[in-house]
Amino acid sequence: MSIAIVWLRRDLRLADNPALRAALEAHEQVLPVFIHHAPDEEQPWSSGAATNWWLHHSLKALAQSIAQAGGSLILRAGDTLAELRSLVKSTGATAVYWNRLYEPAVIARDRQIKQALREDGLIAESRNAALWFEPWELQTGGKEPYRVFTPFWRNAEGRLREQLAQGRAPLAAVRKLKSLAKPAESLALEDLQLLPKIGWDQHFYTAWTPGESGAQAQLGRFLKAPVGSYLAQRDLPAVDAVSQLSPHLHFGEISPMQIAAAIEQLLAENHAAGVRKNAEGFLRQIAWREFGHHLLFHFPQTPTAPLNPRFAEFEWRSKNAYASDLRAWQRGETGIPIVDAGMRQLWQTGWMHNRVRMLVASVLTKNLLIPWTEGAAWFWDTLVDADLANNTLGWQWVAGCGADAAPYFRIFNPVLQGFKFDSAGDYVRRWVPELAQLPASAIHAPWDAEQQVLQHAGIKLGSDYPNPIVDLRETRARALEAYDRVKK
Ligand SMILES: Cc1cc2nc3c(=O)[nH]c(=O)nc-3n(C[C@H](O)[C@H](O)[C@H](O)COP(=O)(O)OP(=O)(O)OC[C@H]3O[C@@H](n4cnc5c(N)ncnc54)[C@H](O)[C@@H]3O)c2cc1C
Repeated sequence: MSIAIVWLRRDLRLADNPALRAALEAHEQVLPVFIHHAPDEEQPWSSGAATNWWLHHSLKALAQSIAQAGGSLILRAGDTLAELRSLVKSTGATAVYWNRLYEPAVIARDRQIKQALREDGLIAESRNAALWFEPWELQTGGKEPYRVFTPFWRNAEGRLREQLAQGRAPLAAVRKLKSLAKPAESLALEDLQLLPKIGWDQHFYTAWTPGESGAQAQLGRFLKAPVGSYLAQRDLPAVDAVSQLSPHLHFGEISPMQIAAAIEQLLAENHAAGVRKNAEGFLRQIAWREFGHHLLFHFPQTPTAPLNPRFAEFEWRSKNAYASDLRAWQRGETGIPIVDAGMRQLWQTGWMHNRVRMLVASVLTKNLLIPWTEGAAWFWDTLVDADLANNTLGWQWVAGCGADAAPYFRIFNPVLQGFKFDSAGDYVRRWVPELAQLPASAIHAPWDAEQQVLQHAGIKLGSDYPNPIVDLRETRARALEAYDRVKK
């Protein structure tokens, strides 16, 4: 009887899982395995604290689904190749299957593992489960990787439509797995020590349901109503208008193909023009994720170096000079309400609304002149959706040094943005409760409010809530000068 190992990583689902399906088609028994790799394998981008929290709960959910299907999820920790070899030896497996990932260190590790396993005489095969298209499948007319989103999307969208019309569809869920007669040794989930030792994660439990069924429920909720007003409301952080699928997508609890198919289905049932426009706008957003992976694959240096090499010379402030400002930013104590609201939402829930991510990143890189890599590192540790491709794309876009980046002179004014996108002030009130009594007209710039208004709201600036740590107007001018020097 032939046995195959399915090495699960960030494809924590039973539906639309090509590696699992390939193993089941070619072998009588399949052993699903998760290996918590040794920290040095994915350096310097081993998963952060918030994603580890998610991983713990996602593995728990997956183990339950696998058990319901009649199998059992084997957990291991340590050097990945050594663990795979030990499992091969103890079970007599003749093949190992997995789904591909695209971070540079992971690609290098996986390549070595594939070669080593093949040299051992095993079948070692990988599949695409994370993207509509492999990063090497899409090219410009000049056979180059894309650096600009719109033509990338035009190409991807055309092909996706064509393939959907030709019947490309997500793979059905695996419902039956057989346990091995002699079970392989497994660690307990707790042995992986993924949960934080200090209980800063309590809000995460009310905010999220990690796992494949949590992901499907989230998609269902989004497609039921918010998708219909996605384009008009996706920039409003106080409104429940976006999908919040990002951590589910990061861990592969749902695939972009499943989302595209669900949208096709929705559009087949609902012919309203508004729904089509909004649903397509949503798919376009998922394509930014594809674009991020395309860029990371083709430009693997970008998690630490600007894609636009001119920006390597950019004069950031020195670490000594910015250390206390960075701390204030991380803690949500900058005195700029929408920034503080975002940073506190991030700390408490592991997620921040996209519009606010852009604002906090703009204040960090432009008003505070702190390197974007500092912000990316903080996000890496605190976001439940921390994703090397998307995080690098987002930070370089805002800093103005990436592909298709915001032009360097686009410096968001967080006060105007606050009044525009959180006009009633509800988002700030929710995350910065000390400002909750301020009227909407004052909430995004309390330093401009009359003393009487502040008094009435029970706020003394400087003690109940900080004065802004930067003068937005002066630092805007300073940033423009610094960017001008790079331009020359
Ligand atoms: C500075 C900065 C850092 C970011 N870091 C990350 C990160 O580490 N991980 C991450 O998943 N996203 C990141 N983003 C992108 C974006 O903010 C999140 O994907 C989005 O807020 C997730 O919420 P949602 O699932 O409700 O999005 P929706 O609006 O519902 O979009 C659906 C999906 O499309 C993808 N998507 C949407 N917008 C973007 C985008 N701009 N770039 C790439 N993919 C996108 C995501 O997978 C998202 O789940 C970052 C953005 C910025 C500006």
